[in-house]
Amino acid sequence: MHKIQVEDKEFELFLENDTLNKRIRLLGIQINVDYEGKCPLFIGILNGSFLFMADLIKEVNVPCEIAFMRVASYAGTESTGRVKDLIGLPENIEGRDIIIVEDIVDTGLTLAHILKTIKAKNPASVKVSSLLVKPACLKHEIEGLDYVGFEIPNEFVVGYGLDYNGLGRNLTDIYRATES
Ligand code: 5GP
Repeated sequence: MHKIQVEDKEFELFLENDTLNKRIRLLGIQINVDYEGKCPLFIGILNGSFLFMADLIKEVNVPCEIAFMRVASYAGTESTGRVKDLIGLPENIEGRDIIIVEDIVDTGLTLAHILKTIKAKNPASVKVSSLLVKPACLKHEIEGLDYVGFEIPNEFVVGYGLDYNGLGRNLTDIYRATES
């Protein structure tokens, strides 16, 4: 098993880039079918979603717009249980078809907060695409989580945009911590 060290923590190979891309291609096809004749606005949640957004958007062939916003709720590997700073929500999303693009849904707290804020601005529809979801950790009901890459166990993962203390976002594959 391929192992790497990120800062003080050991990780092992979990989802290879080829596996990620195959799944993302299918998500793109699903979005193309669902949004035919529409012009969705993809809103990526920084920093973690930047690589997923880049690869997902390449599979989308309906007219679309892209924006990014920023939230933070984690320090290290532990949830702080609080959502801080919601920065950069695009203006004028009334009547738009929104697709939120996330790296990972853990408790769902971050996403629940984002959804509430976005829905208050009267978009026509809101759906969510998250590359990873940890179903065992979900504590908040998330409507519209229709485009999920992979459901994973409750393990800390790094790579392909996801960080451990700011490091590891540049890894092309996703790795999981060998111990929590
Ligand atoms: P939630 O609010 O759903 O509990 O947490 C969502 C956010 O926590 C994600 O956008 C991500 O930044 C961070 N997060 C949750 N689980 C992991 C993980 O396994 N690895 C990394 N790198 N970040 C995670």
